[in-house]
Amino acid sequence: MVRVCVFCGSKTGNDSEYAEAARCLGREMVSRGVGLVYGGGGIGLMGVVADAVLEAGGEVIGVIPDGLAVEEVMHQQVADMRVVPDMHRRKAEMHELSDAYIALPGGVGTFEELFEVLAWRQLKIHGKPIGVLDVRGFFGPFLEAIERSVMEGFMKPKNRQLFVTETDPAVLLDQLLGMAGAV
Ligand code: AMP
Repeated sequence: MVRVCVFCGSKTGNDSEYAEAARCLGREMVSRGVGLVYGGGGIGLMGVVADAVLEAGGEVIGVIPDGLAVEEVMHQQVADMRVVPDMHRRKAEMHELSDAYIALPGGVGTFEELFEVLAWRQLKIHGKPIGVLDVRGFFGPFLEAIERSVMEGFMKPKNRQLFVTETDPAVLLDQLLGMAGAV
């Protein structure tokens, strides 16, 4: 089964459009037979995307470090919850399980996860497609930072293509799945 690893906020953000996009992504994944790998939380956009996949009858795998595996945080309906000793093991497990990555809006946890898979792709440690779902222009400053880095000579222009950006979850998924098939 093709699985997409989703990075997203442990909060829902101030606008309902964020949760709506996360729900839509979950449903579109299930309709394409794509499984979800994610951080295992039941809170914020993490909970929203996992709920959407579960409600539509899809596969969800949560990978959560021991310290975060407390009842208030961990999703209680995810049957395949893998509790790992630390963040390093979590990253390795998420990576082993997935064929592509999608980042939704979030905080530093989401940014850290996104930047890591970008850096690793740049170093050719993996060749998996990476997508950014730009809800409400949230990733505008991120895209500007990448552009600035290229303009100032810190990034090769071709590395603009390390990831794709879309505003529609269905379009983003179709792009990534096409690329995942090609890898
Ligand atoms: P943030 O964007 O800072 O809210 O962090 C969310 C990202 O970091 C998610 O994609 C998770 O993989 C991880 N993460 C942060 N907080 C939690 C939590 N309480 N439970 C599980 N994963 C979390």
